[in-house]
Amino acid sequence: MSEVLPAIFFGHGNPMNAVLNNSYTEAWRRIGKQTTRPKAILSISAHWFVPETGVTISTAPKTIHDFGGFPQELYQVQYPAPGDPDLARRVQKMLAPLPVQLDNSWGLDHGTWSVLRHVYPGADIPVVQLSIDESQPASFHFEIGRKLAPLRAEDILIVGSGNLVHNLHTYAWGKHMPDPYDWAVRFEEGAKQMMTAGEDKPLIDYEKLGRDAMLSIPTPDHYLPLLYVIGTRQRGEAVTFPVEGVDGGSISMLTVQLG
Ligand code: ZN
Repeated sequence: MSEVLPAIFFGHGNPMNAVLNNSYTEAWRRIGKQTTRPKAILSISAHWFVPETGVTISTAPKTIHDFGGFPQELYQVQYPAPGDPDLARRVQKMLAPLPVQLDNSWGLDHGTWSVLRHVYPGADIPVVQLSIDESQPASFHFEIGRKLAPLRAEDILIVGSGNLVHNLHTYAWGKHMPDPYDWAVRFEEGAKQMMTAGEDKPLIDYEKLGRDAMLSIPTPDHYLPLLYVIGTRQRGEAVTFPVEGVDGGSISMLTVQLG
């Protein structure tokens, strides 16, 4: 395989990042500039967490404002990237015999657009979203990543959007920004070491990693997009962490890039 695009897991954090300029969003912009322009993007977002696997089939996916209680400015954001029905059908074929619904009801949720708005501000690269089947074990999601890995050699950018550590119960919503919790730092550090060493199994079996993991991943939705991305890893491929930081004490903003 000569040239493959990277696969990238973004820690999206607070939806307000969509309209802010901070160290995270600046780093996202840099990633967009440094990455070979993809033909299309396949995005797996924590926020399309449903009891089935589906892909968006629309030629013009709508911008979904799937949150409550944020400033009006955030509800006015539009990310009018086109869809790519051919890519959606290709994903469906690659995952067969798994039933994959061609979905016309979802669009792009904020897990996707709050990041892509910075990575590709022109909104001119087609985007397809793939849902996360909430009824399936972690290994299922990793396997989907493996099956979709060949897309990377076809100029498709595979993006996961979630957060490695995502505990909203302990998150500081106010202006005061506390130091990261020790369990969040420990879990992130351990996970980075496993990724660097190519140890996928403990990351898939994260429920066996003990208390730090349980506090970092109280629900699987924001963690699972990472497993799709590391599932696409090519043999011997390097992993880098182009964005780091912990927001509000308990949201890891870590970006994980393969290739
Ligand atoms: Zn989120």
